[in-house]
Formats: sequence, structure tokens, C-alpha cells
Amino acid sequence: FPESVFPSQPEPLTVMGGGLVGTLAALYLARRGYPVEIYDRRADPRQLSKSTEGRSINLALSDRGWRALEGVGISEQIQPVAIPMYQRIMHDQQGRLTYQPYGRENQAIYSVSRDGLNRALLDLAEVNSHISLHFNQKCQFVDLPNRHLVLRDTLTGQEQTRSFRHLFGVDGAYSAVRSAMQKTDRFDYSQQYLNYGYKELTIEAGANGTWRLEKNALHIWPRGQYMMIALPNLDGSFNCTLFFPYEGEHSFATLQTGAQVQAFFAQVFPDALPLMPALEEDFFQNPTSSLVTIRCYPWSVADEVLLLGDASHAIVPFYGQGMNAGFEDCSVLDDLLDQHGSDWHTVFAEFQRLRKPNADAMADLAVYNFEEMRDRVADPRFLLRKKIESKISAQYPDQWVPLYTQVTFSSTPYADAWANGQRQEQVMQRLMPHIQSEADYDQPAVQALVQQELANLAY
Ligand code: FAD
Repeated sequence: FPESVFPSQPEPLTVMGGGLVGTLAALYLARRGYPVEIYDRRADPRQLSKSTEGRSINLALSDRGWRALEGVGISEQIQPVAIPMYQRIMHDQQGRLTYQPYGRENQAIYSVSRDGLNRALLDLAEVNSHISLHFNQKCQFVDLPNRHLVLRDTLTGQEQTRSFRHLFGVDGAYSAVRSAMQKTDRFDYSQQYLNYGYKELTIEAGANGTWRLEKNALHIWPRGQYMMIALPNLDGSFNCTLFFPYEGEHSFATLQTGAQVQAFFAQVFPDALPLMPALEEDFFQNPTSSLVTIRCYPWSVADEVLLLGDASHAIVPFYGQGMNAGFEDCSVLDDLLDQHGSDWHTVFAEFQRLRKPNADAMADLAVYNFEEMRDRVADPRFLLRKKIESKISAQYPDQWVPLYTQVTFSSTPYADAWANGQRQEQVMQRLMPHIQSEADYDQPAVQALVQQELANLAY
């Protein structure tokens, strides 16, 4: 590498936010010899005892995320605590199950503990001599023209002012760094909330830590206007998330008492209810959280500030890609540092030029998948369509890569995946009127139509 890629006198870097993406970004930057200061408003999660740390929340980690973790040599450490989920299992209101593989054989998304992953990344940062970690430090204010920021110690209330040369704003969806940028001229910003909130619930482990539902799957209870999902934990339990309207006939507003919650679950999630002895406690003690898409631009200020992760592109969680997209930000940043060395101006400008269309596409995909998971996975015509798509993909693997596969099991830019997916959608709309059952796929007329459509599909 030329010296610019691994400079001999590296400038100090400031990373605001020691969450998943901030810590990974810091590890990438420190590999090049930059001294990196990480600040986070939280206490060090590794020092919290199990009882104070609260609920464990699981995330689905997929290929883009794994690739980024491999880049700093941490994937092997995460693998043993990641549970592969090879398929979606849909539970209907009678408790009948439908199975839908996520990809080809052995392709899986992985259930990992958010907290465990964050701790593992912080452990790596801790032992890295280039990184200093500062917890309980809340960014109160960023003075962009003068390149300094104000931090408040959340334990003592004391404030300190620090200057920065290059600041990475990785402080999540409600980023303080972005707030400062929002006050600058021609900064675009939008936030859009769904009318749905979510609540974390638990399916308890069976005797001796066994799983009371299929372990290697993501479970979905789709019910039209709402749904519940469950991801497996290592101890035999599952983390469930109920995505539910704030208002309306079936909504958080109408479930006010324990009896109402019990009756509702008995009616709509009857196979899950017996597995949820802590339902009432979870329902009333855990917060109802909102779901937001945040878009903004630009993501950088000259060679001084760059936003990464949710700070620049918070998305709704239905494609399981928010963290994966943030991790991919780190891989892209690393590639640009390879190409442009410490020419931060170019690195930041190129980063936002490359990533913004992909972040926008991912935001759209996430809302699209919400609708798919909520309504369409319960529709027999949709399930037949998915089976036909798998047949096309098995028969013509080079010409038809399902949208979910492109997003989850490849590094195809999100924007390209979304454009390909929309073309495939049109093809399926033309094909499906000719198909009433799986067997119809083998009819010569249908085969001819498929071939004709594929000839027109230029990837
Ligand atoms: P965060 O994780 O929000 O971290 C930001 C950090 O900055 C925090 O540590 C915070 O304490 C700190 N901070 C904030 N403000 C300040 C301040 N003023 N000063 C100092 N520090 C500050 N993604 C997936 O890939 N797969 C999934 O399955 C998935 N499931 C999800 C399910 C739900 C219900 C939700 C809500 C999200 C899900 N996501 C998932 C998205 C994922 O959680 C986020 O994309 C990811 O956490 C973003 O990481 P981040 O580091 O950018 O932000």
C-alpha cells in the first residue's frame, strides 16, 4: 500500500456512537493506524449485570454483515453464538404451519444477540491500542464551523468541549451529529413513521433449554393488519416482536388489561400463547416503540464529518437489513480508504455518492417486505407464486436470482437488487394468470412463456 493508505502520521479520528456500526467502523479505521476516540452516551454494556441489562434483543445477521465482520477478523468469534435460520415458518390462526426456505440449501440468515455482538465488538476495540473508549459521554452539541463538540458526562453532569479534525456520526437514528448538520443550508431531511409500533415479548424455553418451536427458523404469525415474529435464542427461548397498530379495532389502544391481552392472543395466536407465560408482564412492562424511516442528504461536511449507519439511513426492520446495511457502510468506507488513502474529502464525497442510492433502495425494500410479511405470506396465491419463482430460479439460476436472495445472500448493490426485483415483479404478474398449481409450471406453454420472459430480462 502507498503511504497515503496507511499514513505514517495519522490524524486522530472521533467516532460518536459506540453501537454496532460505530464500533465496527472504529475497528476498520484503527487498522490503518489512526488513533480513534469512541464516545457513547450509554454506560459500558459489558459492565452491566444480566439483571440490569434488561431484555435481550436479537437481530438477523446476513451475508453483507458477515462480510464486514470478516474484514476485522471477528466473524469466527460470532459464528458459535449465531443460530442459522434456514426458513420462514408461518403459523396460521389454527396453528397450521407453512414452510418457506429463505434461499437454496444451507443458505441461512442468523439470529444473533444485539448485546452480545456489541460486547464482542467492544472487546476487540478495548484491546486495540489505537482505540480509546469513553462511555457515559453524551454529545450535546456540535459546532461545525469551529470543529468542536460538547460532551456531557451522564453520571456527573459535567460538560467538556473537545475539538475534532474528522468526526464520524454513528450515533443512531436520533443522531446529535446529524442534528447539527440539519441546521446547515440545503440539508435534506425526512422522517416517516409507520402507524405501527412494536413490542418485545418472549417464548420461554422448554425443559432443559430445549426449543419449543423449530429452532432453525424465523417464525411469523401473519394476520393481515398486524403480525408477530420470533427469533431463536441459544438458551431455548425465542424473542418475539409484535408489530401492531397504535390505533384501531385491534391495536395497542384497545389492549389495556391483562384479560384483554390474554383473550386477544388466545384468539389470534393460539399456538403461541401457551408458550408465553410471561405475556402479560412483558406486554405491560416492555415499552411500545415506534418504527421510522429517516432519509437525509448530504451525509458529509467537507472532509470533517461523515454520517454512517442509522444516523444517515434508519429503516424499518422488516428486511432485517438495518445493521447489515450499516456494516456494509464500513466495508465500503474501507474500500474507499484503500483507493484514496487519507484524501478524506474524496473519501467522504465518494462514500455518500455511492451509498445514498443504495440506502434509499433499502428503505423502500424494508417497507415492501413489511407488507409482504404482514399480508402476503398468508395468501395461498402469493405462496404459489413464491414456489414458481423458486422453480424458475432452480431451472435458470444465472438468469433469475430472487429479490430476497439478492438482498440477503449477495453483495449486489441494494439499488440494483431493487430494480431487478421490480422487473421480476412485472414478469410474475404476467406469468401467474397462466398458473393455477405448481404442476402447471411444467406445461409446455408455461415453459415457453418463462423462456420468453427471461430472454427479455437483461440483468
Ligand atoms: P445504534 O445501534 O442506534 O447505535 C447508536 C449508538 O450511539 C448507541 O450506542 C447510542 O447510545 C449512541 N448515541 C446515540 N446518541 C448519542 C449521543 N447524543 N451522544 C453519544 N452517543 C450517542 N438490523 C438488521 O440488520 N437485522 C435485524 O434483524 C434487525 N432487526 C431490528 C429490529 C428492530 C425492532 C429494530 C428497531 C431494528 C432492527 N435492526 C435490524 C436495525 C438495527 O438495529 C440498526 O440498523 C442498527 O442498530 C444501527 O446501528 P448504529 O450503530 O448505526 O445505531
